[in-house]
Amino acid sequence: MKQSTKALHSGYEKDSQKTMSVPIYMSTAFDFGTADFAASSFNLEQGTDNVYTRVGNPTNAILERRFAEVEGGSAALAVASGMGAIFYSILNIAEAGDNIVVSNQLYGGTVTLFSQTLKKLGIESRFFDVHKAEDIEALIDDKTRCIFFESISNPSIDVPNFDAIIEVANKYNMLTIVDNTVATPILCQPLLLGVDIVVHSASKYTTGQGTAIGGLIVERENLSLKIKDNPRYPYFNEPEVSYHGLVFADSVVSPVLFTFRARMILLRDTGAVLSPFNAWLFIQGLETLALRIKEHSKNALAIAQWLQKQEGIKKVNYPLLEGDKNYENASKYLSKGASGLVSFEVEDYDRAKKILDKVEIFSIVANIGDSKSIINHSASTTHQQLSKEELKKAGVSEGLIRLSVGIEDLEDLIEDLAQAI
Ligand code: PLP
Repeated sequence: MKQSTKALHSGYEKDSQKTMSVPIYMSTAFDFGTADFAASSFNLEQGTDNVYTRVGNPTNAILERRFAEVEGGSAALAVASGMGAIFYSILNIAEAGDNIVVSNQLYGGTVTLFSQTLKKLGIESRFFDVHKAEDIEALIDDKTRCIFFESISNPSIDVPNFDAIIEVANKYNMLTIVDNTVATPILCQPLLLGVDIVVHSASKYTTGQGTAIGGLIVERENLSLKIKDNPRYPYFNEPEVSYHGLVFADSVVSPVLFTFRARMILLRDTGAVLSPFNAWLFIQGLETLALRIKEHSKNALAIAQWLQKQEGIKKVNYPLLEGDKNYENASKYLSKGASGLVSFEVEDYDRAKKILDKVEIFSIVANIGDSKSIINHSASTTHQQLSKEELKKAGVSEGLIRLSVGIEDLEDLIEDLAQAI
């Protein structure tokens, strides 16, 4: 099956009511039926479906199976937000004393998570320029647990050389984790390129209409072979005290280790569970994602080309713009389109502010990936918490305006920008 078909059908077998729309199971808990079945569920002796919604829910399970298939992975875990997915993807492999190697070009919330919150937990983040994969090796030691980067970075809109980064990671038998939020699985499937784990903010293009916050972690096929007996990942290979000495890598219940452990340890203990209602909204969004993301990409490229020709615009960033520093990587990894993010630089903050205050169709919103177009000044909003040095590393200047181009009529969008600029 092709991706757009999977996005409409995977993971759902019609129940007794034969509903075309996936049912929303708003239930906190589920009846075990027998005492033995209840005990074996808690012991991880059999499947973990339908125990308690903090660790699993039938509606969430449909979203997880469907999303995993669309991404080309083996399993997924849905959580309460994109940040929750990123946090869990690291907590699932790292503890105090460990370190992670992470790209400079990341979403602002991810930067503060890595540079501040993880630091307080004793996990060090070592940053590299995503265009300099050759710098990564010097940052790796025995305590390095993963390499983390974004497939299209927000807001700097950089596209990495996947092959070069994956090669270094594999040399050290280490996991790569990619935030695929901006590209979406329709434009880029990192797991098929050799990435080990993909994380998503489903709050963006997946919902498509800015209706809900949620996140997903997806693991690739056969990832367990890389984790089993790998000294970098003791959590999976040493006895787990909270399950009476169970070794996850030897568990017969689930051959997919990464998401299984994240569910049964991290969701169980820290509880950032996705509401089944939000899971249902993401299922609705997934159904049309393939259509929408192509329109976003088409509009964004046309607007980037138009902006290049306008006076007073110092620079336009869009990966599939000829001459853009990401053009070569984008042509290789994003042949179907480069999504809806476009950024451009005007001379200073004052000029940027005037443009923001004048647009009518674009809304000033701290979000991306909505079907409706969005305009944003990164340095004073989403990236406000970053230091001057961090802003520079993230490629965010004072006059940088970021657009999340929606799927309105292209002529209307250009007219709006023209009168504002
Ligand atoms: N990753 C990227 C690339 C983002 O742009 C965002 C939010 O803007 C996040 C993760 C965080 O997602 P959420 O807001 O769902 O927690």
